[in-house]
Amino acid sequence: MPRALLFILLGVVTLSSPRLAAETAPLLSIQQLSDASTLVVKGRVLDVSSQWDPAINALYTYASIDVSETWKGALQEPRIVVKLLGGRLDDLELRVAGQARLDPDDEVVLWLEVRPRDGTLYPAGLWQGVWKVSDTPLAALAARRRADGLMHEAIAVDALRAMVESSTPTDTAFVTVPVEFHKGAYTFFPSDGPPGRWHEADFGTVVSVDYEPPPGGLGGGVAELDAAIALWNGSGMSLRLQRGSSRSARCIGAFEGDGRISVAFNDPCGEVSDSGTVVGLAGLYMTPILREAGGTTFQKIIQGTAVLNNSAGAFTVLSQRGCFQDALTHNVGHTIGLGHSSQSNAIMWPDPLPGCGSGPSGLSSDDINGIRAVYPAGGSGAVPGPPLGLTSTTNGTTVTLAWAAPATGGAVTNYVIEAGSAPGLTNLASFTTSDALTSMVFPGVPPGVYYLRVRGRNTLGTGGPSNEIVATSGALPSPPTGLAATVAGSTVTLGWSAPTSGEPVTTYILEAGSAPSLSNLATLVTNSAVPGMVVSTVPPGVYFVRVRARNVVGTSAPSNEVQVNVACPVPSPPTNLAFTKTGGQVTFTWQAPTSGPPPVGYLISAGTSQGLDNIVVVDVGPVTSITATGPPGTYFIRVKSRSACGLSGSSNEVMLVLP
Ligand SMILES: [Zn+2]
Repeated sequence: MPRALLFILLGVVTLSSPRLAAETAPLLSIQQLSDASTLVVKGRVLDVSSQWDPAINALYTYASIDVSETWKGALQEPRIVVKLLGGRLDDLELRVAGQARLDPDDEVVLWLEVRPRDGTLYPAGLWQGVWKVSDTPLAALAARRRADGLMHEAIAVDALRAMVESSTPTDTAFVTVPVEFHKGAYTFFPSDGPPGRWHEADFGTVVSVDYEPPPGGLGGGVAELDAAIALWNGSGMSLRLQRGSSRSARCIGAFEGDGRISVAFNDPCGEVSDSGTVVGLAGLYMTPILREAGGTTFQKIIQGTAVLNNSAGAFTVLSQRGCFQDALTHNVGHTIGLGHSSQSNAIMWPDPLPGCGSGPSGLSSDDINGIRAVYPAGGSGAVPGPPLGLTSTTNGTTVTLAWAAPATGGAVTNYVIEAGSAPGLTNLASFTTSDALTSMVFPGVPPGVYYLRVRGRNTLGTGGPSNEIVATSGALPSPPTGLAATVAGSTVTLGWSAPTSGEPVTTYILEAGSAPSLSNLATLVTNSAVPGMVVSTVPPGVYFVRVRARNVVGTSAPSNEVQVNVACPVPSPPTNLAFTKTGGQVTFTWQAPTSGPPPVGYLISAGTSQGLDNIVVVDVGPVTSITATGPPGTYFIRVKSRSACGLSGSSNEVMLVLP
């Protein structure tokens, strides 16, 4: 069908509407409208909000436009902000007759003039400068929309563009964004009337996000929902979300008033458009229980519902994990009070973010600023407190950690697991999890002993550590077996068999005690993985000996115990005992033995006849001469060597007569 014919038919239908009303301005032709405009663009309305222009103390409405085509004029930026007369802020509203209406998400063609005072852009010809674009099965049409919302006429977009492009150029300078327009790119949802808010945030009550079990074919499942919830919880907002119950799908509009958010998949009620790539929708039930937060008055959300779509276009997006998680994050964002952002890296940007094909997106600073404006940080906009109750279980080299979320501080986005070789150290590993799940499985952990802590993180920082635990990977050695000892003099040779199980042995440890099971005499480390040890110059005695094996995991139980007897040889007798008399004094001399263990001292003894010690026995210490006096008489004198193991036999005997 020729485009011109279509235009005429539609034009007739619309113009014949009986609701056509009187205009507040003369109707301009498309040519007149275009000639009057500095800029004509096609694009989408991202958000609409009102604020004061302090230069003249007036209320204006600012509409951010994502420009897709420039039909007239020189425009470099992809985004412009149109400044319209009138607006509403809190309880004050300014209405100016004949103004154009712009609604978020509208696809529009804009004829724009330049405001001489500040160079800002506003629609030409009052309401006539804003046309709404709609897709029909046959063509994209643009329609002039009157101030009362009725459509005035419709024309194929391509034909309209050709007419605009033939208009007279103008070169008036303009600003794309009014200087006073400094608010965040985020918006509250809804943007007309009081926006919605979960006042539960003010009372520390957690809001649950229930979910239909995610069907197959999507890019993810419950883990991505958890991650989306964790992102919002980690934003520093005072609202706390948690994954709720699995349930049947809830339609966008189905009223349950249950004070919960519910997420469904595959458009269960057939309510999401299948044209284009609408990936999801979200809706709120609200009631005017008003509370103010951050200078804005919000009404109470009593139910939130998000539905992801099942159209072919939606599936292309939602079959990718990152885009699937982003769609959940975006629509959960709607259910907690955010509208669309005009910042193209925000999760609340209307379209899927370009990077989602390679992984989920985080929150942008605009998302964070937006949600914190709805839920300003009270006590909970903080770094997380310490996680609780860290435990571990080991199966071979698979270590599973589990803990509980912090009971204090801000909500957690993810965790850091620290591992060290000693208490308090993080010298072995520092692992950052990707979500707020409170367990983690580590397969293939190198055998060893790990001192572990976990810390919670969010956008505000990393919190304090949990309790510390010791986790092991791998197995202890089994006890060595067959310990046996042979003694030769003071040399003890020990042999045993290596453990039959466990990680490789790094060394053996010998324990010796004075009684069974004691280690009070010696602990020797072999510093070798080879079984066996030779110990020389062992002090005489009786030893009870065991051996243990050690590896990276730890030390085994003891082997069998053996008793080792190291003999205690006594010294040989001294030789050449002799004496000299000088006046009344007698000096004895002798020679130390030349064989056997060296004496530590000598005992000299005297008797009344040969072989007797019945007069005196004196320990003279480690000397080989001594001078003495005594009463008259006849003495038989001998000397013995002494050591720790006892006394030698006697030396030669001498007879001493004192007059
Ligand atoms: Zn959205």
